[in-house]
Amino acid sequence: MTDGPGMGQCECGAVAGPLGVCADYYHGILAEEQADPQMYRWHAPVVCAYLLQHPSGAHEKYLDVQFRMLQLYVDKGLDALLRVAAHQVARNKHGTRSSYDMRPFEGYGSLPPGGPPGHFRAAFCELPFSDGSFVSDGHLAYGRRIETIVEATVESWRSVQA
Ligand SMILES: [Zn+2]
Repeated sequence: MTDGPGMGQCECGAVAGPLGVCADYYHGILAEEQADPQMYRWHAPVVCAYLLQHPSGAHEKYLDVQFRMLQLYVDKGLDALLRVAAHQVARNKHGTRSSYDMRPFEGYGSLPPGGPPGHFRAAFCELPFSDGSFVSDGHLAYGRRIETIVEATVESWRSVQA
């Protein structure tokens, strides 16, 4: 491989994998999870971690709540996050409110100014993709890898100095 400097590097600082940069992996995951309800359970952490690692494509006003959702996931686990996410969806279906109910997130720190961090110890473009799938070795293994990416995301953002 004789890639020049800067070639194949993602916005998050990671080196591109066989499928490309993280955006390629992210879109691959979104496509595969549509047909796989068990994989879809990690949809919210996948979206939040991806956007926090690649904030140039994100809506800035949602990054803070997405950061808090990831902290809740690390703290209380996937089922707790799914309950909170379902609650937010149900809430927005009724009436015209389109904001988040912040009560479940009150114990978690806000997004530090001065980001984004230039490096995360786990990236989407490092996820294994074999036999045309992200879950070829099972959903639990996939979930553990997503959890590692989430922990890396929270850790790096927490280390940002304003
Ligand atoms: Zn990336």
